[in-house]
Amino acid sequence: LMQLAVPLNFIGFVYREIRQGLADLEQMFGLMDVTEEITDAPDATPLEVQNGAIRFDDVHFAYDANRPILQGISFEVPAGRTIAIVGPSGAGKSTISRLLYRFYDIQSGAITIDGQDIRDVTQRSLRAAVGMVPQDTVLFNDTIAYNIRYGRIAATEAEVVRAAELAQIADFVRGLPDGFDTMVGERGLKLSGGEKQRVAIARTILKSPPILILDEATSALDTHTEQEIQTSLDMVSKDRTTLIIAHRLSTIVDADEIIVLRDGRIAERGTHRDLMSQGGLYADMWNRQQEASEAEERLRRAQEKD
Ligand code: ADP
Ligand code: MG
Repeated sequence: LMQLAVPLNFIGFVYREIRQGLADLEQMFGLMDVTEEITDAPDATPLEVQNGAIRFDDVHFAYDANRPILQGISFEVPAGRTIAIVGPSGAGKSTISRLLYRFYDIQSGAITIDGQDIRDVTQRSLRAAVGMVPQDTVLFNDTIAYNIRYGRIAATEAEVVRAAELAQIADFVRGLPDGFDTMVGERGLKLSGGEKQRVAIARTILKSPPILILDEATSALDTHTEQEIQTSLDMVSKDRTTLIIAHRLSTIVDADEIIVLRDGRIAERGTHRDLMSQGGLYADMWNRQQEASEAEERLRRAQEKD
């Protein structure tokens, strides 16, 4: 009997570890209120990533049956390309990123990666292939090193530090009394929004996935830090299929295609040039942001003179 007790114990341990991992992941995405559990299809197979082409085909989705959110969304992110999604808050941008990670199942249509419907593959393989820097990162109640290493558990210490450097957080961490062993989260050191974002970016740099989702990944950072991290993010997204949800339009002018989402529908689409010459919603948003940053710049200059 003792012989059996050990493996059973071990299975219990592994099970709890996996449950904790899932809880961590849900917490990370602020999804503790997820009620309906997504399960693998009985005949689910691992996702086979060839080059990571994403396709949304007439996707309809609602969190609550009586309030449609996405209403017929179709787009493609060709392998290795970068597509940006912009639009007013509440338009459904973050929802798109959650659906690609399969935190919810859609009501109709299909989402595929390299031709495989994401409902037909194992969640584990799907989530291994997709890296996401969410809009609001919730860190695990553990050390900074753990929070970064979560991107790739087998990473060496040097790789963790390197990722932190690329995400412009290493100097800050080294300045803490316990360095990378500093506890963060609810019971540990409270990090600012920008610091948390940089930890999440370091984690994703370490994971280095074939498919990358950046959901307003640099929104909590000041313009200077944003520019520095942008270089690292450009490196990670180079030759990787990338979906960028952007607030600051100046960060996505080079995207292969920009999708303007409004009220769960695609209102406009095209390159930055196309959209500017259309003079529609995108052009309005762009002009407003330009004016705001010019005003900011004038204010800064005036303050420097004083
Ligand atoms: P965006 O990222 O463009 O600002 P979201 O995709 O976060 O927009 O949200 C789109 C709509 O879905 C909003 O009206 C929001 O209130 C609603 N929504 C988001 N998450 C949930 C949820 N978990 N349950 C119910 N409604 C939600
Ligand atoms: Mg959002």
